Amino acid sequence: MNTPFTSSTSSTPPVLDVARIRADFPILQLTVAGKPLVYLDNAASSQMPLPVMDRLRRYQTSEHANIHRAVHYLSETATAAYEAARITLQRFINAREAREVIFTSGTTEGINLVVHGWGRQNIKAGDEIILTVLEHHSNIVPWQMLALEKGAVIRVVPMNDAGELLLDNYEALFNERTRLVSVGHVSNALGSINPVKKMIALAHAHGVPVLVDGAQAAPHLALDVQDLDCDFYAFSGHKLCGPTGIGVLYGRAALLEAMQPFKGGGDMIHTVTFEQTTYAPIPNKFEAGTPPIAAAIGLGAAVDYLCRIGMPVIAAHEHALLRYATEHLSALPGVRLLGTARDKAAVLSFVLAGIHPHDVGTLLNQEGVAVRTGHHCAQPLMRRLGVAATSRASFAFYNTLADVDALVAGIRSVQKVFA
Ligand SMILES: *Cc1c(COP(=O)(O)O)cnc(C)c1O
Repeated sequence: MNTPFTSSTSSTPPVLDVARIRADFPILQLTVAGKPLVYLDNAASSQMPLPVMDRLRRYQTSEHANIHRAVHYLSETATAAYEAARITLQRFINAREAREVIFTSGTTEGINLVVHGWGRQNIKAGDEIILTVLEHHSNIVPWQMLALEKGAVIRVVPMNDAGELLLDNYEALFNERTRLVSVGHVSNALGSINPVKKMIALAHAHGVPVLVDGAQAAPHLALDVQDLDCDFYAFSGHKLCGPTGIGVLYGRAALLEAMQPFKGGGDMIHTVTFEQTTYAPIPNKFEAGTPPIAAAIGLGAAVDYLCRIGMPVIAAHEHALLRYATEHLSALPGVRLLGTARDKAAVLSFVLAGIHPHDVGTLLNQEGVAVRTGHHCAQPLMRRLGVAATSRASFAFYNTLADVDALVAGIRSVQKVFA
């Protein structure tokens, strides 16, 4: 069936109508340095479409009040919109229940919530936590802080030169002290799609729960936390065409119920005396204080927008961009692609022979092309690759083959400057 965003005939799969889509993203009409903006920094933050801005404006102009605490009209309207957003997010990840969806400020807070709420209760001296060499600092540093506090040990799954995790080595890491696996679904630096479903099954066979860092997967894949069978899943709104300051932590209800809250305050309690406090049921137990109400509602609108297009259609379009970009970048002399996993999201990390990635980014900016340069919050991975930094082009569904051509032309002109 056609959505307004796709065209197809009975014999071809739906194809994204990218021109239609781009009309929803006013920021893509900007010029930078006199050139049309080519935005290829989507792995850091994606852009927001008009329907999300319209929803935020409607909320602020006619629905805003604090939630959960009053019986007046606006408070009830805001509460209903906030809880409706939770149900939208529940459906988006196919969670069993809406109370398994905790609103956080982003992936970082979601992981920290598990570290403090689950880790401090369940991890003791000598216990082991399994991470992978591909992790973002957000999925390393909080565990290291916990390991330091408790005297626990971090074990790291290695990868091959293509950026694929080595599952035999992963399996060999398990022993009777293993307490948790925390793994990224998609690498932000290389684009590798990790075999998390297999990794989760293996961990469960050892009785070990798994947290998935889904910051890079949520915007690009159709998610199903029940099918993955993960115990926790964290992602951010701003990489999903939503606002900053909002994210989701999914947790299995039984685990969340057994966990200690990470933040104390209003709205997360049942009763309070100076002697003791009893906590509210989930999800409120983990949402102390006034939450980012507008941002949560905006994220709900962003997810509605993505679902109207269809995540499989988005994934197919981005895969076509990845293939085209990989083909053209690898054909350029002096370009080395890092990360050539068979299963990849539309992220291209590269270095140019003899040119510092920072100069690559600066000169590409003069061509209107926005890429990110640096260590991508993955210094251990950079060390494994033997580079200090890379340039990274990361694509979203509103990017086009012409954007890839602009990147290729931009790289050529950078190389000319240094020739
Ligand atoms: C961006 C990112 C994070 C951190 O997300 P925040 O929105 O900054 O909290 C964590 N992990 C991965 C893989 C990311 O790409």
